[in-house]
Amino acid sequence: MYQSFIGLEIHIQLLTESKVFCGCTNRFGDEPNTNVCPVCMGYPGVLPALNAQAIRLSYVVARALNCEMSPQAVFERKNYFYPDMPKNYQISQFSSPLGRNGWIDVAYNGKTRRVRIHEIHLEEDAGKMIHAGDMSLLDYNRAGTPLLEIVTEPDMEFGEEAEILLQDFRRTIRYLGVCDGNMEEGSMRCDANVSVNLEGRGLGRKVEIKNLNSSRFVKMALNYEIGRQKEILDKGGKVVQETRLWNENRDVTETMRTKESAHDYRYFPEPDLPAFVPDAEFLAQVDRGLVELPAARRERFVKDYGVNEAAADFLINEKGTADFYEEVAALGADPGAAASWLQFDVRKILNRENRELAGSPLTAARLAQLLSLLSGGRIHGKIAKQVLEAVFAEDKDPGLIIREKGWEQMDDAAELAALVDRALAANAKAAAAVKAGDAKPLGFLVGQIMKATQGRAQPQMVQELLKEKLGI
Ligand code: ADP
Ligand code: ZN
Ligand code: MG
Repeated sequence: MYQSFIGLEIHIQLLTESKVFCGCTNRFGDEPNTNVCPVCMGYPGVLPALNAQAIRLSYVVARALNCEMSPQAVFERKNYFYPDMPKNYQISQFSSPLGRNGWIDVAYNGKTRRVRIHEIHLEEDAGKMIHAGDMSLLDYNRAGTPLLEIVTEPDMEFGEEAEILLQDFRRTIRYLGVCDGNMEEGSMRCDANVSVNLEGRGLGRKVEIKNLNSSRFVKMALNYEIGRQKEILDKGGKVVQETRLWNENRDVTETMRTKESAHDYRYFPEPDLPAFVPDAEFLAQVDRGLVELPAARRERFVKDYGVNEAAADFLINEKGTADFYEEVAALGADPGAAASWLQFDVRKILNRENRELAGSPLTAARLAQLLSLLSGGRIHGKIAKQVLEAVFAEDKDPGLIIREKGWEQMDDAAELAALVDRALAANAKAAAAVKAGDAKPLGFLVGQIMKATQGRAQPQMVQELLKEKLGI
């Protein structure tokens, strides 16, 4: 029997205004080489200065991932040459990273596994190389932007766990507002490490997989790689320690290069940056940057609002949706109804119109009003759906819409009785059948009256009036 070991190295780009060691703008998509200065271009004699927002966001992440926060975050130079890195070294952390010994829980297959976080460190990103024909172009806008690296211990076993960890982690950083977590655009990147060994023998020889730009590819690549390594071991072979690339067209991993080991980088202390020593005020600020995290919120939603797991999962996925939901509930709406409207009816419209809840015509107050019109019997379910559509189309309050359109429910007994009489006269055959004991046409008769009133008649009253008149 074999055992597999998986550890992840996750990089996230921090959403700061400026770069991590200079004042250049940190923004994706600008004209190449416009956000550069002597510091991030590595001119001799310039001095880096640590960005306060970057270090604060970094500690917020460390805190959220249950890390011990370093009383002294030290910066080092990691030396290597590459054209996208003009200084020929990267400022990073080695001897005393800002966070250590954290954890993140991963629930998979009915079990929860605690995946330890080895460390979290802050570093600067490199620029971007663009290969065009036989030329290589360089864009240094990204050089020197803040990058946070999270390194897990090799505590996972299955590709699925890695996928879930990444999804949970992405949700967490989005809640914290530190990164948008877009793996396709590269604002969140992941290298996956995996080894296989005979059970009980501990870690095997690891392979690192790169070029993974979705959490699904991480899962697929890891499971492919576990299978490949098992096959090698089955045949009595040895796994080569190397870096492999995920080929997303062929669904396989392929050799990239054999990996240099850590000491090749010749880390040495960055002489131009003092160690960062967080004081009490800084730590208090970090605490203020924390929010209730998705897992806790999911649990609370199930407990406090009585929604089921699927609804809770949907509601907490985006912080904006969860906040919106709580606002609707606080306005007195039934939490179950609010959850189901958001999960189905509202989501359907948002998907169709390809828009977000935030900034849409549907505010929490409007949804609460709609639900109160519904629960108070002023409108019924089918009309409520029409009202919701109208809120999106016309950007008006539900109360105003039903008044303007005359959609308010008809519950005047005399008015309804007249309609019932008319329907019975027009559908004598159905009426006779019901009288003779066949209950089926009753629904048809109700339907006729609903149709005649464009769905505004109070269906229960209609049914009762019909029964009364037909003597059943
Ligand atoms: P390196 O020196 O190659 O950078 P590290 O020890 O720093 O390796 O680990 C990098 C990542 O690889 C971590 O996420 C760690 O959990 C994972 N890892 C390390 N050794 C193994 C192994 N034998 N099998 C699977 N994953 C491993
Ligand atoms: Zn700069
Ligand atoms: Mg390492």
